[in-house]
Amino acid sequence: MVIENYKKIRQSIDEACEKCGRNKEDVLLLAVSKTKPLSDIEELITIGVKDFGENKVQELVKKKEEVSTPVNFHLIGHLQTNKVKQVIGKACLIHSVDSFHLAEKIEAEAAKEDIIVNILIEVNVAEEESKFGLTVDDALPLVQEISEKCPHIRIQGLMTIAPFVDDPEENRPVFRRLRQLSLDIKSKKIDNVSMNVLSMGMTNDFIVAIEEGATIVRVGTAIFGERNYAIS
Ligand SMILES: *Cc1c(COP(=O)(O)O)cnc(C)c1O
Repeated sequence: MVIENYKKIRQSIDEACEKCGRNKEDVLLLAVSKTKPLSDIEELITIGVKDFGENKVQELVKKKEEVSTPVNFHLIGHLQTNKVKQVIGKACLIHSVDSFHLAEKIEAEAAKEDIIVNILIEVNVAEEESKFGLTVDDALPLVQEISEKCPHIRIQGLMTIAPFVDDPEENRPVFRRLRQLSLDIKSKKIDNVSMNVLSMGMTNDFIVAIEEGATIVRVGTAIFGERNYAIS
């Protein structure tokens, strides 16, 4: 079932790209496997899927250790500073950096291991109180500070979690604003900062996100079905 679902979503992504004149190769479908069993991941690996999203450090580390074939695990959930050490070198991309305090910790652990860590800056574009991420206005100063003080970090772009809405069109301005912000930051040509990645769009609104420039869409429910947190 997950293979069928995955293919269906990939197909809609390709169609959306074609409609708005984008290259389908420029949009990564990140399969958000949080709370789901390793067997679901293994199934997708058989058709060549290589990128999976997890929101908990422990779960990411465990799945990475147990999976039969090396694949990429992205950390998409909030990262606490006391978990940085565990996840460093394990996640191919951390989507959720939203403070200098956290970046400093990542820098320190990356320096110890002598590795470069790829991150995205999480922006709470809609300024929802319940969500992590910094405001649009605080994004550039954080990017600049990380660039100046964290030589082991590469900022690859921006990420946002849009509000849960009935009509995905309602999130179009959110996605548009994130893209505009990434263009503004890109124009500053800051060292060690590329703005090639825009991680935005989930099960309910990934088509609109692609129309607005998403390069990674994070899709869970539409591939793996509803999550049941009670038994996970
Ligand atoms: C769970 C999660 C997703 C996937 O959400 P769906 O609505 O199930 O597609 C995407 N991004 C983040 C940050 C998540 O935590």
